[in-house]
Amino acid sequence: MAQADIALIGLAVMGQNLILNMNDHGFVVCAFNRTVSKVDDFLANEAKGTKVVGAHSLEEMVSKLKKPRRIILLVKAGTAVDDFINKLVPLLETGDIIIDGGNSEYRDTTRRCRELREKGILFVGSGVSGGEEGARYGPSLMPGGAKEAWPHIKTIFQSIAAKVGSGEPCCDWVGDEGAGHFVKMVHNGIEYGDMQLICEAYHLMKDVLGMEHDEMSKVFQEWNKTELDSFLIEITANILKFKDSDGKYLLPKIKDSAGQKGTGKWTAISALEYGVPVTLIGEAVFARCLSSLKDERVQASKLLHGPKPKQFGGNKEAFLEDIRKALYASKIISYAQGFMLLWQAAKEFGWTLNYGGIALMWRGGCIIRSVFLGKIKDAFDRNPELQNLLLDDFFKTAVENCQDSWRRVIGTGVQIGIPMPCFTTALSFYDGYRHEILPANLIQAQRDYFGAHTYELLSKPGVFIHTNWTGHG
Ligand code: NAP
Repeated sequence: MAQADIALIGLAVMGQNLILNMNDHGFVVCAFNRTVSKVDDFLANEAKGTKVVGAHSLEEMVSKLKKPRRIILLVKAGTAVDDFINKLVPLLETGDIIIDGGNSEYRDTTRRCRELREKGILFVGSGVSGGEEGARYGPSLMPGGAKEAWPHIKTIFQSIAAKVGSGEPCCDWVGDEGAGHFVKMVHNGIEYGDMQLICEAYHLMKDVLGMEHDEMSKVFQEWNKTELDSFLIEITANILKFKDSDGKYLLPKIKDSAGQKGTGKWTAISALEYGVPVTLIGEAVFARCLSSLKDERVQASKLLHGPKPKQFGGNKEAFLEDIRKALYASKIISYAQGFMLLWQAAKEFGWTLNYGGIALMWRGGCIIRSVFLGKIKDAFDRNPELQNLLLDDFFKTAVENCQDSWRRVIGTGVQIGIPMPCFTTALSFYDGYRHEILPANLIQAQRDYFGAHTYELLSKPGVFIHTNWTGHG
C-alpha cells in the first residue's frame, strides 16, 4: 500500500542521517540501498522505533510511495546515479520526481534533467551541505532543476533544512537544470578559500608572533565574537587547543599535506572556463597541491633559503588585529569573487539566480555558515541587481576599514618569508578591480606586435587597429 511520503536510496552516512531527519519532521520515508542487507540493518538499528519503512527491491520501494513519487538518491556521484536513474525510469510515471542529493557535477545534472524531462520525469539536483551532522539535524539544501517539482518537495526540504534568524530555512529554489549543483560547487570552493585564509592567519601567528597553541585558540575564540563569527573559526579554536592522549597538542603532529576531493578544483576550472577572476579559490586549491608535495618540500627546505628568522619587533596585539582585518578583507574578496562566478554562470546558462537566497542558504547548516553571510543577504536585499559585493556600501566600507592592516600584514609576511597565497591574491584582486587603468594596454600592443591581433584605442571604442610596429614589410 502506498504509505511513504518519499524514498531515499543510499544508506551510507548521509542517506541514513537525512532519513532520520525527515522522520523527525513527520515524514514517512522508504529506505533502499544497492546492498540490500543494509536496509534491514538500518531498520533494526539506527531507524529502530521510527516510522521509516524499508524496501528490498526498487519495485517494492516504488509501490510504497504516494504520488507523485519522490525519490532521493544519496549515492556516490557518477555512474551510480545514472545506473539508478536507468533502473527507476521504467518503474515511474509522468510527473514523478527523482532528486540527486549527492555531489554531482552540475553538467551531469543538466544532462539528466534534459534526458528525464523527455521521459516525463522531473529531475532535481540538490546540493546538500553540512556533512553528517547537517544531514541529521539540518543541512543547507540547494535544489535546482525541473521547477515543477519544487511545490511537491518544498515542504519536506524546508522542514528538514537548517534554520536561521526567526526560523528562516536554509533552503530555497536555486534555479534551472544544474544550478543547484553549481551553487553547491561554488560553496565548496568558497569553503577551500575560507580554510586556507584561516591557515594563513595561523601561520602568521605561529611563525611571526611565535604564539603557543592555547594562546592562538583564545584569539580565534575572541575573533568568533567579531565579524568573523563562523563555524570554521569556531572549530579552529577547538582544534588548536585539542590535546592528544599524551597531553601534547595534536595539531603539530598532523602531516601538513592537505587532501581534496575535487569540488574546489571544479570551481577553479569553471572560473577559468567562464573567464571570471576567482583568484582566491584558485590559490586555495593550489596551496593544497603545494602542501601535498611534502617530500619535495622537505628536500627544498634544506637547499632554498629565505630571509633570516628574526624576532617580531612590533606590537603583538596590534599585529593580531591587523591579521584579523586582513582575514576579514580577504574573505570579503573571496565571496565577491564567488558571487561573480555565479553571476557569470547565470548569464551563460540563462539561469535566474536569487543571490540573496543563496547567501541565506549558506547562512546556516553548512561548513561556511557564518554571520557574515547575513550581511551578504542584506546587500542583495538592498539591491537584487548588485553586480559586485565590493560595490555595496557595507562591504566597500568594511574593506576600506581593513586595508591598512591588510597591507601591513602582507608587507610583514613577505619580508619574513611567510607564504600567504590567499591574503596576497585577494589584495591584488582588490587593487586590480579598483584601477581604472591597468597595464593591459601593453599586452594588447605586444599581441598586435607579434601576432597582428589588433588593438582598440580608448578614444575610438569598437574600432580595431593593427600597427606595423617594426616598419618592415
Ligand atoms: P558515499 O560513500 O559517497 O556512497 C555510498 C553509497 O553509494 C552507498 O549507498 C553505496 O551502496 C552507493 N553506491 C556506491 N557505488 C555505487 C554503484 N556503483 N551503484 C549503486 N550504488 C552505489 O556516501 P556518503 O558519504 O553518504 O555520500 C553520499 C553522497 O552525498 C555523495 O555523492 C557525496 O559526495 C555526497 N555528500 C557527502 C557528504 C559527506 O559529508 N559525506 C556531504 C555532502 C554531500 P552500497 O552500500 O551498496 O555500497
